[in-house]
Amino acid sequence: MSAGSVTLVGAGPGDPELLTLKAIRAIRAATVLLVDDLVGEGVLRFARRSARIVHVGKRGGCASTPQAFIEKLMAAEALKGERVVRLKGGDPFVFGRGGEEAEHLREQGIAVEVVNGITSGLAAATALGVPLTHRDHAHGVMLVTGHARGADAALHWPTLAAAAAQGLTLVVYMGVTTVQELQTGLLGALPASTPVAVVQHASPAHQKQAVGTLGALAELVREHALASPAVIIVGDVLRGLHHAAAGAQPMKHGRVA
Ligand code: SAH
Repeated sequence: MSAGSVTLVGAGPGDPELLTLKAIRAIRAATVLLVDDLVGEGVLRFARRSARIVHVGKRGGCASTPQAFIEKLMAAEALKGERVVRLKGGDPFVFGRGGEEAEHLREQGIAVEVVNGITSGLAAATALGVPLTHRDHAHGVMLVTGHARGADAALHWPTLAAAAAQGLTLVVYMGVTTVQELQTGLLGALPASTPVAVVQHASPAHQKQAVGTLGALAELVREHALASPAVIIVGDVLRGLHHAAAGAQPMKHGRVA
């Protein structure tokens, strides 16, 4: 029996045209695919007909699939000789628990490969038509989670706000449910007039977005009924955009001719 393997593949923000060639190659070669719920359906059209597709999303079905079960399943299939692809939304190594999964598999002697995907924070900015760095407005970017594990791990928003005030764009993943806390914390070091944007489902089909200011961020989320999965972008790179009507047509990602 040939040795199996696991490839953690970044499926990007949803649009199959944003997959890498390497991702498509891995999906085509897979005999078993374990699919997260943030993965766009269109991505699965590259899978073989004979491949077994298992949806292990946390919100698709009635109950979430526990992480430990997913890791066990991946390992068991690989040890049986299957070519397993774990399809994850965005990039597997950006808040995707890809690091934990790779570590767990390697501990069992299973070969693991990781294929980058376009992380939703980058896709969201491009969908708005703004760069995350800009020679005049932002000399860097911070990707942070609004949902840190355990109370002690909670981010200190005023510290991040101080860094943002130095000219770093802040991109918050998993931040909409704690948006009020985030707003209050960031106002500790950033002016209420700081531009913000919230992009839900950064992908052409279902994208929803709103643009405003930090002083009214929580209200913006409520008013536009924005919910997970969404990223929040904070910083001067959005200047000019926040006057645009919220909910304006999203810019489409370029298509390959
Ligand atoms: N690995 C993923 C992130 C997983 S954490 C990536 O690189 O994008 C889950 C969070 O990612 C969501 O709560 C949301 O903040 C963000 N997210 C994932 N897909 C998204 C999408 N299509 N649009 C906007 N945000 C998204």
